[in-house]
Amino acid sequence: MEIARRQLGENTRAVHLPPPPETAQRPVATPIYRTATFEFSSAQEYAAVIGEQMPGYVYSRIDNPTVDAFARAVAALEGANLPRWPAAQAFASGMAAISGVFLAFARAGGHVVASTALYGGTYSLLRNVMARFGVETDFVDISDLGAVRAVTRPATRIIYAETIANPTTAVADIKGLAEIARERGALLVIDSTLAPPVVCRPLEHGADLVIHSATKYIGGHSDVTGGVVTGSLELIGQIRATRIDTGGSLSPDDAFQLRRGLETLPVRVRRQCATASVFAATVAKHPAVAYVDYPGLPTHTGHELARRMFDAGPEGVRFGAIVTVTPYGGREAGLAFASKLRLAKAAASLGGTHTLVSHVASTTHRQLDDRALAAAGIDPGAVRFSIGLEDSEDLISDAFVALEGLGR
Ligand SMILES: *Cc1c(COP(=O)(O)O)cnc(C)c1O
Repeated sequence: MEIARRQLGENTRAVHLPPPPETAQRPVATPIYRTATFEFSSAQEYAAVIGEQMPGYVYSRIDNPTVDAFARAVAALEGANLPRWPAAQAFASGMAAISGVFLAFARAGGHVVASTALYGGTYSLLRNVMARFGVETDFVDISDLGAVRAVTRPATRIIYAETIANPTTAVADIKGLAEIARERGALLVIDSTLAPPVVCRPLEHGADLVIHSATKYIGGHSDVTGGVVTGSLELIGQIRATRIDTGGSLSPDDAFQLRRGLETLPVRVRRQCATASVFAATVAKHPAVAYVDYPGLPTHTGHELARRMFDAGPEGVRFGAIVTVTPYGGREAGLAFASKLRLAKAAASLGGTHTLVSHVASTTHRQLDDRALAAAGIDPGAVRFSIGLEDSEDLISDAFVALEGLGR
């Protein structure tokens, strides 16, 4: 029932402003539902929606329309060639998405098989956090399917790998891993942050769940953090339930930015891949360079697999845009190389418009001594490039100037 506004005090009137107009025309861009909570027409409706007897929005930790718009958009891109689009859930960061998956499907006494070449945060989550809850993880060389099969057991619930590993750029055989997961009744979970849709869509190769740190290529401008998981409606329903209880939900403002990022994802990533291909091939020929890791190089162990698994356009196969350059001279040479670069900036993160570099041994993998680095297949001199949108000639000459005087 309406209350006559004239009878209300000035504070009440200020709070109870007329609602925003409802538009019959759909906005072209994504509206930001910057609200923590949604109002119901009756207490009965509130009870029905929160009890999930009726669809609707209650509270933004639970669901928010802007966040759903982002998650659905990722699902559409990840499942482009599937008979039905998968479902998706968005999170406040990539690690929130990854921990959401483990909290939803791992159990005390359960077992996880994960790649030795794993993002540091994920390694630490499994090693330090999940272990405390009785979840045991075996880390194996995921490219050795025999080794993966050998460490799985009846308790194995999750096989976990990255499409392109960082910084080794090793490529995971998703079809092969999916077969093992199916045989053992485990879920295959793929972190495809380094191979976003337009490079690879792991669900189409048999993965059960695909995770992205949306902070990287999806956002694409190094200005927002987020994470997202896609997969079947049933699995995503369990992840949503866990997210609601653990609370790592994405904010509507960040969801807006990430959804906007998706609109230019193909344009950016195609160009980044093309630049990375030229950069990798050219820098590999420099006399101060011992080797370059990039799936696009015919010398790369995952090259043939990548050719089969990754998308191609008129510009050729897209092998991603992470290039790891190892100069001769070990740790000192790697540090000197990374610090002499002028265009490529020393910074954490990847996938943005600016080319960023990390001297791997002193930054992302600093906890590993030289022996542990060797076991992970990382040279102490390795420098990881995340290729941005600059002109390839400028990036190459930046690298050549920085390589001057290094090496043998
Ligand atoms: C950055 C990254 C993450 C973690 O994502 P955040 O958004 O930083 O939490 C996970 N996996 C990979 C491969 C990454 O590069």
